[in-house]
Amino acid sequence: WPGRGRRKVSYDQLQQILLDTPSSKLAEEWSRYYTAGPHLAGKNYSQAAWTAAKWHEFGVESTIVPYDVYINYPVDHRLALLARKKHEDGHSAWEVSYEASLTEDIIDEDPTTGLEDSVPTFHGYSASGNVTGPVVYVNYGTYQDFGDLVEAKVALKGKVAIARYGGIFRGLKVKRAQELGMVGVILYSDPGDDGDITEEKGVKPYPEGPARQPSSVQRGSTQFLSFAPGDPTTPGYPSKPGAPRQPVHTAIPSIPSIPISYADAIPILKALNSHGPKADDFNKYWTRNLGLQYKGVHYNVGPTPDDLVVNLYSQQDYVTTPLWNVIGVINGTIPDEVIVVGNHRDAWIAGGAADPNSGSAVLNEAIRSFGVAVRLGWKPLRTIVFASWDGEEYGLIGSTEWVEEYLPWLTHANVAYINTDVAARGRTLRTSAAPLLHNVIRSATAAVLSPNQTVKGQTVFDVWDKQIKTMGSGSDFTAFQDFAGIPSLDIGFDSSPEQPVYHYHSNYDSLHWMKKFGDPDFAYHRTMAQLIGLITAKLADLPVISFRAGDYGHALEHYVTKVEDKLDDALSPKELDVFSLADDTTYFELRGSTRNSSSATLFWASSPDVLSFKKSLRRLHKVLDKLIERAVKLDKHADDLDRRLEGHIPWWNWPAKLKLGFAIRKVNTKYKYLERSFLYEQGLDGRPWFKHVVFAPGLWTGYAGAVFPGLMESIENADWTNAERWVDIIESRIQNASHRL
Ligand code: GLU
Ligand code: CA
Ligand code: ZN
Ligand code: ZN
Repeated sequence: WPGRGRRKVSYDQLQQILLDTPSSKLAEEWSRYYTAGPHLAGKNYSQAAWTAAKWHEFGVESTIVPYDVYINYPVDHRLALLARKKHEDGHSAWEVSYEASLTEDIIDEDPTTGLEDSVPTFHGYSASGNVTGPVVYVNYGTYQDFGDLVEAKVALKGKVAIARYGGIFRGLKVKRAQELGMVGVILYSDPGDDGDITEEKGVKPYPEGPARQPSSVQRGSTQFLSFAPGDPTTPGYPSKPGAPRQPVHTAIPSIPSIPISYADAIPILKALNSHGPKADDFNKYWTRNLGLQYKGVHYNVGPTPDDLVVNLYSQQDYVTTPLWNVIGVINGTIPDEVIVVGNHRDAWIAGGAADPNSGSAVLNEAIRSFGVAVRLGWKPLRTIVFASWDGEEYGLIGSTEWVEEYLPWLTHANVAYINTDVAARGRTLRTSAAPLLHNVIRSATAAVLSPNQTVKGQTVFDVWDKQIKTMGSGSDFTAFQDFAGIPSLDIGFDSSPEQPVYHYHSNYDSLHWMKKFGDPDFAYHRTMAQLIGLITAKLADLPVISFRAGDYGHALEHYVTKVEDKLDDALSPKELDVFSLADDTTYFELRGSTRNSSSATLFWASSPDVLSFKKSLRRLHKVLDKLIERAVKLDKHADDLDRRLEGHIPWWNWPAKLKLGFAIRKVNTKYKYLERSFLYEQGLDGRPWFKHVVFAPGLWTGYAGAVFPGLMESIENADWTNAERWVDIIESRIQNASHRL
């Protein structure tokens, strides 16, 4: 690499450019462009072309990379409550007692809520169907909620489920309902999950106030994420034209589902009143955040009697159609070290000011900033690839197909993937990341001022809760992290309980909402552009890659103790007080585990295998000790090389320079391939696409991450033979990693 003093734009100058260039005004301008009309997956070519042209204008070469993918577009739908009424003359007839509107109100002051071509309310990958049957209220529709219903002997077969949105990935709610023989699923947004920002507590709904608009509907995909993201007809390989296609029946639902608002849910929930047990008759998981009692809903579970049923009709048009990723490149000096930075472009609705276009606006500002440096003659050490993904909403399609297509190259060259999706919808920094990247997040956040200057000079780091979650799923990092073994991070400013309610996947995720409630002066957009710029620069432009292998080792140690805690809980069961857990994700992690904990506990406690298995786990500590020792040594060595770079080596001492160069290259190669050591070619049990033995989306959570998923799932199933097998697999991966260090 060019010597420090010889570069046209020094690293310090680069950082200054990346801090100075992003503009709130321009972020708003990009947001205005992206949120002006519908841009569903495969129906946004003009936006792909515009994005490519913009990046070109900023000084970054770009191309459009298409795939042919299998997705659905909505044709027609209906949801009605039907009652059989007895007439005087003795004969009876069905009458419609409620016809759901299935539309979101047009709001005059919010122009994109009234577009003629606005996107109907529907679910990605919903089955077409016309079903009629009694209704059962299934709480959040988690695996355990369904388990509670089965235990209480509530009839599910042939019935239509109504579940509130929340916590776990929606596709898994439909999956479990289908497995239990239910014929359709209705998903609604319960205002109880909006905390204190509700009409009931006197807060005005959007647009007058920050509470949920009663007609707002959360669209979204219902694919069975846990098997494989991407085009369901091409698991593991790219959907190029002419590619062979697989049957989809295990990957997407075969029963229809429909998303509705709470306004539409109230009559259906009220029809359940007095039928079957009540939420109160179950456990605390059922009585949490019930928000419609003040509207006369008693939260009975049902089922409704045979003369009080719903008719759910959903007609979908399934097509194999092109979608378009935009890929921009700034070539670096080192050809086989690459940083990828991406966000998706497709949205469920015309607006999508937060999801995903706060990310799109931010990415554009970050790219424009790098363009400024390029114009000054800067060339990064490592190649930077920017991506505007299509088809994220249906199942992370654009990113997954791209990773599947370029897997050999990415495996060889990709150092890290940086994702932002909802970059700004509130003021609370949220991030999840591979442990190797934790330190980069800490140092970048400490170098950027927070828009919150209640204490003058405070940085994003200062006002952050310092929590970095493990990688689950729900956005485009999944194929990088879980399939290709590339350390990834995801970052954005989230809303929190006291902030305005965010209308996720609804028409009210609009520019108007963003300007009135989400990020009125686009200050958080600008800040996120600075953060993404700095994170990318740290990874792409410092001679020694800014990874911390020690952090990975310590994280692994922590995950092993998590497994041990799980076993201890089984041996001496104690009630977990879920309400003392502030974190929503943790709540659903507990609720999303695969087994009914009480029966599993009885089984465990009487099993002598548990004790012997605990001994096996000790082996992991042993190999980890070694890994940590080596990892810490590598980090020290890296720091040492960094220091030597700072020092002056006179021009005539080129042998010393060369030697330093080789030493850095050696360290970087070790860092680059470390994450890859944790891939297991056969993949996880029942979901072979997921190849990472440390991180995966929870089998029944979807969004929240699981650690050592193969091991954890075996333990939950009390399958000790398989659990031993996973200890072997993990042990050998850790040893691999150690050797590579
Ligand atoms: N962000 C999308 C969602 O949560 C991802 C869809 C998916 O993972 O299939 O709906
Ligand atoms: Ca594929
Ligand atoms: Zn998104
Ligand atoms: Zn989304």
